[in-house]
Amino acid sequence: MKFITYNQKNFNKIEYLKSIPVEIKKEIEIVSKVLPFKTNNYVIDYLIDWDHYENDPVFILNFPNRDMLSEKQYEMVEKAWNDKIPDEEFQRLVNKIRLQLNPHPAQQMTNIPKLDGIPLEGCQHKYQDIVLFFPSEGQTCHAHCTFCFRWPQFVKDLDLQFSMREIEMVLEYIRRNENIHEILFTGGDPMVMSPKTISKYIHKIFEADIKHLDIIRFGTKSLSYWPFTFIPAFSDEAEEMLHLFKQITDQGMHLSFMAHFNHPNEMDNNAVQEAIYNIRETGAEIRTQAPVLKNINNSGKIWSDMWTKQVNLGMIPYYMFVERETGPYRYFELPIAEVYDIYTNAIRYSGSLAKTVTAPVMSASQGKVHIMGIVDNDISSERYFMMQYIRNRNIEETYKPFLMHYDAKATWFDQLTKVKEPIVM
Ligand code: SF4
Repeated sequence: MKFITYNQKNFNKIEYLKSIPVEIKKEIEIVSKVLPFKTNNYVIDYLIDWDHYENDPVFILNFPNRDMLSEKQYEMVEKAWNDKIPDEEFQRLVNKIRLQLNPHPAQQMTNIPKLDGIPLEGCQHKYQDIVLFFPSEGQTCHAHCTFCFRWPQFVKDLDLQFSMREIEMVLEYIRRNENIHEILFTGGDPMVMSPKTISKYIHKIFEADIKHLDIIRFGTKSLSYWPFTFIPAFSDEAEEMLHLFKQITDQGMHLSFMAHFNHPNEMDNNAVQEAIYNIRETGAEIRTQAPVLKNINNSGKIWSDMWTKQVNLGMIPYYMFVERETGPYRYFELPIAEVYDIYTNAIRYSGSLAKTVTAPVMSASQGKVHIMGIVDNDISSERYFMMQYIRNRNIEETYKPFLMHYDAKATWFDQLTKVKEPIVM
């Protein structure tokens, strides 16, 4: 199957769009001036039910719509577009709106480490044992998710991207930090890179021969957006890619695919199932993660179906996240209490092998906060969230339960206040 990308430039070539009313197409086009838009022939042909596209979860996941901007933002872009203002002026307006969308949540810019005083611009080191590496060639995806928390990576003229090619510097940094055991290739999606490019990076890891570096991870949505990367019958490079994975595991390193699935529909066809099988045959494991998103997967049944399918296909449910405060998050966000409710409804009805998931989790500035439960104080009639950091910049702060005052409307950690006073229950 041939890979065909559609983005803003060739948007009108998408055959299926013919059935969509002109005004909706115009809205997609206008919002995609601000939010990066990209799709491909696999997503369009295999994942979207075009007879019911308005409510189709993958359509909403992949195609921007006007409610993803505020009314005011939308009207400003629409007017500028209709008035055909000069390109430069238009771009300035678009970038101004992008900056209103909190492009780097959770203080990501503060996670850039230094080697001999030189910032490693394509690297993040937040938790003791792992570094994130953003290879320059992997800073796009096969298709873009409308909710994406990494969307500034795809906006070239905003100058907010992380990326680098010099893995040698990252490896030297790892060599000097014995607590680092894992390197996570991320993006965008590192699986957009050719096997030759990935192989160059991987062989540099082998050559560096750092005894305390045991684990290679790839954060990827390729299984969902272009599974042919892992099916030799469809892609010449797939054989090479699978061979590379086998080399990693033969080297005695642990290889983990952090696969991103947002809805059970993404796992229903033969292509994705074959790709999963082929990856597992190399000795790699596949762990799954995704946020809870209003309008896409906000029900316990969807999550329990998703985990059940994942387990049946040999994958390991890993994280369920609370949607981050970036991009069009107002369209997708849900109160923390509701996400917790979705989680409990999902996990209760999932089999025991799905209980590997840690959920729900917020990736906040200080670390990953796990919502452990909602606690009622029968004496004072107060209600609390019980939480703990499962990851923290300061490892000493992990796995210490604490209470936050309950707020049924709060959608993010910083909207809550910590319980400081002693309580009697
Ligand atoms: S696949 Fe991941 S990085 Fe790429 S657009 Fe989707 S959420 Fe963003």
